[in-house]
Amino acid sequence: MPALEIVTIGDELLLGLTIDTNGAWLARELGSFGVTVARRASVADTAEEIVDALQSALDRTGAVITTGGLGPTADDLTKPAIAGLFGRPLYFDEKQWEHIRQLWRSRRGTEPPEINKQQVMLPEGCTVLTNRHGTAPGILLEDERGRWVAMLPGVPREMRGIFREELAPIVQSRLGGNAPPIRTLTIRTTGIAESALPERLGDAVRGFPGLSLAYLPGQEGVDLRLTSRHFTPDEADRALRAGADTITSRVGTPVYAEGDTDMAEVVLAALRARGKRLAVAESCTGGLLGARLTAIPGSSDVFLGGIISYANEVKVGLLGVTPESLAQLGAVSEEVARAMAAGARRQTGAEAGIGITGIAGPGGATPTKPVGTVCIAVDIEGEVVAITSMMIGDRAEIRFRAAQAAMDMLRRRLAQT
Ligand code: AMP
Ligand code: MG
Repeated sequence: MPALEIVTIGDELLLGLTIDTNGAWLARELGSFGVTVARRASVADTAEEIVDALQSALDRTGAVITTGGLGPTADDLTKPAIAGLFGRPLYFDEKQWEHIRQLWRSRRGTEPPEINKQQVMLPEGCTVLTNRHGTAPGILLEDERGRWVAMLPGVPREMRGIFREELAPIVQSRLGGNAPPIRTLTIRTTGIAESALPERLGDAVRGFPGLSLAYLPGQEGVDLRLTSRHFTPDEADRALRAGADTITSRVGTPVYAEGDTDMAEVVLAALRARGKRLAVAESCTGGLLGARLTAIPGSSDVFLGGIISYANEVKVGLLGVTPESLAQLGAVSEEVARAMAAGARRQTGAEAGIGITGIAGPGGATPTKPVGTVCIAVDIEGEVVAITSMMIGDRAEIRFRAAQAAMDMLRRRLAQT
């Protein structure tokens, strides 16, 4: 398979202050048209490091994409460093300067600062990759042996624009050819441990002929990702579909979606299909469940609203939780979760209600209820089911896992109706 390397440039990447999303995004795009990324490196904003990384990448694969360091300030050294490596002096490009002047006039109504002239000092003999999203043009440089470097700006939006509009066709014509594309299909599961999956998968535990299988545990559950690297696009689509179907039937109920579909989307669709509306009462999740649901466009037809009943007074006053159950069983109890779910329904007229109460930590634990204890109730037209679960992780993770588990509980109940 044809290969290239990616070098992302910037001190902030090495310090961990900026996550290298550019490298990840480029690798995905390139993979989708069959170009392998042989290596990704991040280097500091010094000419020495940039030249060193470029030299070895060119020696290995002869094809490199860089991002970052094309800005107008003194810390942006990518261009002079790489031009030096290729032995090309920089010249002032009148046409690109005119482009920047127009951009400034139309966006800000002023002339650009002199310092922007740095951005149109271009290496002799380069190909300009027009930037329709900002000021710094991308640059393609090639040497007499056909080895090349494409330099893109660091700002992700500009980098993506230039890549799609200008560079992708060039890379495809040079490296794409007939190489099989990398295609993936993700099967999303939740409410099942990673270690419990192999048993259900049987002989599909490592994937299928020509398809590799990755286990990707996260806060939402365990994603199972099938990847095709050797099939033609049509073969890949067929193999991925068949593989996903096999996995889905073997794993069963824990499978809730495919691709990057969110649980909230799945739950809303299930409610819609059954003509039921939902209301929520949240304590430890503090509105997170409502936020997840309303993040999905069009949720208003089935999601009525929620009550953030953080204080006991609100649980009692608005939701009808009894002071006795609070006193005897505590705010984190299945009894209280049940009353919250019923209260949310009563206050809104929804057919389905969810109640969540738990201990997100770091404080608030008792000998019988450690941090992570979460009680969830789902009430569908008066039939209530409640569970007590132990969520792992820090405060943020416990809250997220609680919201996910609550939606999953509703999903599973709706599937039975
Ligand atoms: P630069 O082109 O180096 O001046 O970078 C401009 C901005 O783009 C930086 O402030 C970062 O926020 C962002 N950036 C640079 N490199 C990357 C990268 N590899 N991934 C994500 N963002 C980046
Ligand atoms: Mg930079």
